[in-house]
Order: sequence, then C-alpha cells, then structure tokens
Amino acid sequence: MSAKIIDGKAFAADVRGRVAEQVAQLKARHGLTPGLAVVLVGEDPASQVYVRNKGKQTIEAGMNSFEHKLDASTPEAELLALVEKLNADPAVHGILVQLPLPDHIDEAKVLAAIDPAKDVDGFHISNVGLLATGQKALVPCTPLGCLMMLRDHHGSLSGLNAVVVGRSNIVGKPMAQLLLRDSCTVTIAHSRTKDLAEVCRGADILVAAVGRPQMIPGDWVKPGATVIDVGINRIPAPEKGEGKTRLVGDVEFDSAAAVAGAITPVPGGVGPMTIACLLANTLTACARAAGLPEPEGLTA
Ligand code: NDP
Repeated sequence: MSAKIIDGKAFAADVRGRVAEQVAQLKARHGLTPGLAVVLVGEDPASQVYVRNKGKQTIEAGMNSFEHKLDASTPEAELLALVEKLNADPAVHGILVQLPLPDHIDEAKVLAAIDPAKDVDGFHISNVGLLATGQKALVPCTPLGCLMMLRDHHGSLSGLNAVVVGRSNIVGKPMAQLLLRDSCTVTIAHSRTKDLAEVCRGADILVAAVGRPQMIPGDWVKPGATVIDVGINRIPAPEKGEGKTRLVGDVEFDSAAAVAGAITPVPGGVGPMTIACLLANTLTACARAAGLPEPEGLTA
C-alpha cells in the first residue's frame, strides 16, 4: 500500500476543536452562544442515533443544543409552525430538520420554510443558488468536509482535474460546485456516463458518492490521485460470524490504496466530518447573524 490514509476521525476532532475555540471567543468577546436546533419527526432508529450524536457534539463544542422530537403522526402544518418559531428565535442560529420525514409530510416544503440564514444543512434553494453563483452560502456539510480534507492535503486545488461520481443534491452537485470554486476542472459522472473507468482515470481528485459497495476498483484510479470515498454501504461479513456485516465505501480500498497518493477509508474517512461541519456551519451562521467576521478555516 502506497497511499497516505486521510484520517477523517482525527481531522474531524481537529475541526470540532477549532469550532470550540472560536465559540469560546464569541462568548468571551461578544457574549454570544451559537445555538443549533435539531428537529426529529418519528422514531427512525438511525435518525435517533444521528440526532443524539449531533446534540452531544453541539454541547461539547460549547454551543446550545435545542432538540425537538415530534411524534410520527405530527401534521405537516405543526412542523411548519415549529420551523417558523425557530426562524424567529434569536437564540437559534442553525436549524436542521432530520431527513427522511414521514410520507405525509412534504420534505421540499419543509426545507423551503427554513430561513436560509439558519439553513445549516445548506439544502435551501437560496443557498444552492448562492453556492452555484459563487456567493457566500451555507454549504452542505458532507461536501464541505471533503473540501476541507482536500485543501488540507493539497493546499491549492487550482488547475487539478476533479471527477465527482454521483450527482445528488446533497453530495455530488454541491461537491462539484465547491471544487469548481477552488478552480478545479470538474467532471460530474453519473449512472449514464459512458466509459466511467476512463473518466475516473483522468482524475487528480476522485470523489465517489454513489452508494454502490466497492464499485470503483484500483485500476480506475490515476497513480498518485487523491481519492475521497463518500459512500457508506453495509455488506455481509461472514468472516466475522453468521449474519454479521461491515461497512465499505464506493471504492475498493485495498486496490485503490495501492495506486492512489492519498485516500479516505470507510469507516473513519468522510463520515466523521459531516457533524463537525454542521457545527462549523452553525458557528458561521451565528457570526454572520451578528455581523462578525467569518470563522477562520471553517467555511468554503
Ligand atoms: P444518491 O442515491 O442520491 O445518488 C447516487 C448517485 O450515484 C446518483 O447521481 C446516481 O446517478 C449515481 N450512480 C448510481 N449508480 C451509478 C453507477 N453505476 N455509475 C455511476 N454513477 C452511479 O446518493 P447520495 O449522494 O445521497 O449518497 C451517495 C453515497 O454517499 C451513499 O452511500 C450514502 O450513504 C453516502 N453518504 C455519506 C455521507 C457521509 O456522511 N459520509 C453523507 C451523505 C451520503 P443518477 O443520478 O444517474 O441516478
């Protein structure tokens, strides 16, 4: 194996530490405490774990955490009324509505109701437009985390060929916009892309955000390239015992690590960066709301 392994767990801990430092400064200098409100509708077990982790890490960073747990049968109008209340609450700087929502609630309508200045997930159409036009936006957390790791590894990304495999609104498209903003030459690949292997082989930076276990083998990777594996896939692991599973990415790790210059593992790569960037976005939203300078090294 020749690639440098990019340790997302350590990097995320560093980001959280920097957020905590800047939160402490905000408190000391301006008497301000950033606040993140997380809204969970229903009892989806995975969502409950995410929400718990978000709340815990928010408090550890010195911020206020406001959790709103609503019954699965909550009417859409009631959820919209809560969002309006949080929009108007000056102690709340970031609002996150945990997805997926129950079927009877229109997800797009709820996301559109969040004040774009508090939209720490970066999914509001205003933030999407601001990012696409190169203006100050709140940026989706997972691609922001990928960008931070890439900047840390490369310094400047200017002029590099970047290939993003996947064009979802939450990962692929914003990732491509961010890389374009850092002056990469960007290709977005997807399920209809012809000769994906050849497209990937041209990448100095290869970001995989597909959701297909180990679909990108090492011989699609350009020697020395940086590989960011966003995929999180659970596959059977009979070697661990009957019925056991393990997590893998969209990239075949061993064969890719043999040729790449640097690579993120799964787990322990991109995953931990997502909540760290949510905290960074909440700090950013708070600073902007108060008319203060942008947090250092924590924005796109
Ligand atoms: P989506 O399912 O929304 O998008 C997948 C994309 O992959 C689509 O654009 C699709 O193309 C493309 N695709 C599917 N099959 C192929 C193929 N054979 N060849 C090329 N492209 C293909 O997924 P998400 O973007 O939401 O998530 C992607 C992965 O990232 C998942 O594993 C998810 O779990 C993970 N993830 C991880 C996060 C983290 O914190 N680390 C956060 C968010 C997601 P088309 O548009 O043509 O259908």
